[in-house]
Amino acid sequence: MSVANGRAFLSIPGPTNVPDAVLQAMMRPAVDIYAGPMVAITDSILTDLKKIFRTEGHTYIYAANGHGGWEAAITNVLSRGERVLVLESGRFALGWGEMAQFIGIETEILPGDWRRAVAPAALEQRLRADKSHTIKAILTVQIDTASGVVNDIAAIRKAIDAAKHPALLLVDCVASLGCMPFEMDQWGVDVAMAGSQKGLMAPPGLAFVAANAKAHAAHAIANMKTLYWDWTFRQGAEHYRKYCGTPPEHLLFGQRAAFDILLGEGLEKAWTRHALLARAVHAAVSKWSEGQTLAFNITEPAQRSMSVTNVLVQGRNPADLMRYTQEKCGVTLGLGIGALDGKAFRIAHMGHTNAPMVLGTLGAIEMGLKALKIPHGAGGTSAAIESLAAAVPASAVTA
Ligand SMILES: *Cc1c(COP(=O)(O)O)cnc(C)c1O
Repeated sequence: MSVANGRAFLSIPGPTNVPDAVLQAMMRPAVDIYAGPMVAITDSILTDLKKIFRTEGHTYIYAANGHGGWEAAITNVLSRGERVLVLESGRFALGWGEMAQFIGIETEILPGDWRRAVAPAALEQRLRADKSHTIKAILTVQIDTASGVVNDIAAIRKAIDAAKHPALLLVDCVASLGCMPFEMDQWGVDVAMAGSQKGLMAPPGLAFVAANAKAHAAHAIANMKTLYWDWTFRQGAEHYRKYCGTPPEHLLFGQRAAFDILLGEGLEKAWTRHALLARAVHAAVSKWSEGQTLAFNITEPAQRSMSVTNVLVQGRNPADLMRYTQEKCGVTLGLGIGALDGKAFRIAHMGHTNAPMVLGTLGAIEMGLKALKIPHGAGGTSAAIESLAAAVPASAVTA
């Protein structure tokens, strides 16, 4: 018995749902790489990235996934043997730090916790102790998709400033850009990076990096540069230099269409949509948690992310629930990864996602909880509906 045939729902924290208009924009012949529409698309994407990162700094596009964006950020501003401080709050800052270590950076971890956000006070304390300023950069993520936490980047900046420490601030926005406020210039972020495939609604394969003047000053003396990632080379006038080779044309056609959707909706409205959908998911998980088997991974409500919710399943492996939603309902949930492997599932609510998609996903989970007799508080999906109905009043509906 199955009720899965119909549109499949991909509810994993990346890659996310690619809008039909984005898919259609990619269905076209290749074009000349030296002139015409391709050059215009590059310019428009570089400009829109500034709007989306909220920066007057320089933006770069790479044919790469998020890991490539990490490498671009590190190699452009650091030198071999320098030290970075990695702020633990899940898996992804650690992964970025491991990459730095692999290529010759000394990596120190500010210990954190998979269940809460980075503590700015602990960062300030560590930086105050670094009197000779051996720490050259701080690596952190805004939303860690492995834990489901959201870090307060403005507070992290304040902690650095309070310690009067000159380290660069490098921020991974892969799972947050387009989903929640990010203010690169206002918050004093020196390098920010993201990927095409999460809140930015395009297929995987593009990495984006934004860098301010302080980052470019570090770039001028950095000695880990390689030609492929090098910012200076990519600033050259010839179009092929923007990609250090052939542009990933079809991904760029898709990203152009995705930015049209995002900026057409309006960045702030997209953030609000994500916040309302996240609140609805949280309302459902709160109800389900009353059964004492499910629980939020992130204990503090204000630290739960806008783009993904990580749900612990205590005393049993969530694999059967995930198999049920997939095979019986056509809903693919995210696996727990890292420390949460076999202990949690993840509900993504990022990118091209609306109320019926989120409610449908929650409904399928609740159906699975019932069918598998997993103890849970009743009425989770109803609580999500209540939350949305209260947040989206009828007066907002145009006649
Ligand atoms: C998905 C993700 C990445 C990695 O992106 P890839 O494209 O898989 O390399 C990095 N950081 C965060 C926070 C992510 O969610």
